Amino acid sequence: MQTQEQELIFEMSRPGRTGYSLPEDELTEMNVEHLLPADYIRTNEPELPEVSELQIMRHYTALSSRNHGVDSGFYPLGSCTMKYNPKINEDIARMHGFLHIHPYQPEEQVQGAMKLMYELQESLAEITGMDQVTLQPAAGAQGEWTGLMMIRSFHEANGDIHRNKVIVPDSAHGTNPASAAVAGFESVTVRTNERGLVDLEHLKEVTGDDTAALMLTNPNTLGLFEKDIIEMASIIHDAGGKLYYDGANSNAILGITRPGDMGFDVVHLNLHKTFTGPHGGGGPGSGPVGVKKDLVPFLPKPILVKREADYSWDYDRPKSIGRVKPYYGNFGINVRAYAYIRTMGAEGLKKVSEYAVLNANYLMRRLQQYFELPYDRHCKHEFVLSGKRQKKLGVRTLDMAKRLLDFGYHPPTIYFPINIEECMMVEPTETESKETLDQFADALLQIAQEAEAEPETVQEAPHTTVIKRLDETTAARKPILKYEKTS
Ligand SMILES: *Cc1c(COP(=O)(O)O)cnc(C)c1O
Repeated sequence: MQTQEQELIFEMSRPGRTGYSLPEDELTEMNVEHLLPADYIRTNEPELPEVSELQIMRHYTALSSRNHGVDSGFYPLGSCTMKYNPKINEDIARMHGFLHIHPYQPEEQVQGAMKLMYELQESLAEITGMDQVTLQPAAGAQGEWTGLMMIRSFHEANGDIHRNKVIVPDSAHGTNPASAAVAGFESVTVRTNERGLVDLEHLKEVTGDDTAALMLTNPNTLGLFEKDIIEMASIIHDAGGKLYYDGANSNAILGITRPGDMGFDVVHLNLHKTFTGPHGGGGPGSGPVGVKKDLVPFLPKPILVKREADYSWDYDRPKSIGRVKPYYGNFGINVRAYAYIRTMGAEGLKKVSEYAVLNANYLMRRLQQYFELPYDRHCKHEFVLSGKRQKKLGVRTLDMAKRLLDFGYHPPTIYFPINIEECMMVEPTETESKETLDQFADALLQIAQEAEAEPETVQEAPHTTVIKRLDETTAARKPILKYEKTS
């Protein structure tokens, strides 16, 4: 591989070589002591590599090509998938009137932006079956916390101060119990049954007059539809609790069913997953929250209101949980979601779900030949496999994920959900072609054959990447962020 042999920029350095041309003496003549406090002035030269313009250009270009993204290859990371990112959205979000406005501008100057936010709220309310939506939260996790704080305020307003438990299935995304804890609740786990669904009997056992809410994803994190959702909703509602829907990945239900119709009271969406906002690298994200009528008074303030033809912010919201983010949410991501919803239309969004589900089922059926399928039923937008069979041969799911890198694929999510042994969680998304799905299946089937015939090929993977296996814990805890000479 070319990148592997590439010399490090520090090793290319030759004394006196430069990659810039600046007027010689302007800086040296300037009396820096007058410009900067003494503490900030360097006393020794920085140890920067001395390289030519082309060398530095090629260095950064080579680094940029080491990243894997949806623009470079298939990315079937279950649950948190980077989904469709149309480039037209980027152009729209960069239009002058969107890009150069400021949150402190008077309302009358930004009516267009407010109209966009209002219409996006309305569309999301329609899509989820909720009565009102806030665009403030900046991420899914913040949306969860916002929703739970509203549920908390709702119970408190009813004098129901003893409701301190939030029920979460054992297959839930880790942010669910974490958000419950941050919102001041204790989380209680409800078991998954042998069919991959919430165990109703256990749900009845753990539900009581201390239940504040049940947090659920449907289809759940195993990619399976909770068919007893109506019954689950009555169990929780009869006990006085609320139902929270984690809608981070909604591309199995768009235009087909709605959390509001299933009995949910609160929903968050990840516009940076399902609604084409790019994510990764730390954001920005957008995690709007929708609520049913009885939670509307608690929405974060200000609320966007429409009076005849004008839009304005209403701060007079005595029961509001307050602001959860400065200004009005991550506007740029909201513009992308709006553009997407308007271009797709209701029929287009429904097709998204149909293709997402079709692609997932196709891939699942192709792979089940070699991998254990813990739940042999139709899946929704994603499915889980288990690497149990390969583990017996000494090849772990981690090894197979690393081996996929040699084929140019981002691996699926592994070891999550935690209730499946040697789990691999695959979400192909709606936008991939049959050819891509087939090539990916062929690669995984080849890896399964290698696990039998030549396990070391898989155990020692990846073979073609610049960096081999990382000690991920050390990499996270003690990252080496600058060049260190090794020899
Ligand atoms: C991604 C995800 C979240 C959290 O969203 P963030 O924007 O990363 O905070 C919550 N639940 C599920 C199911 C997710 O996939």
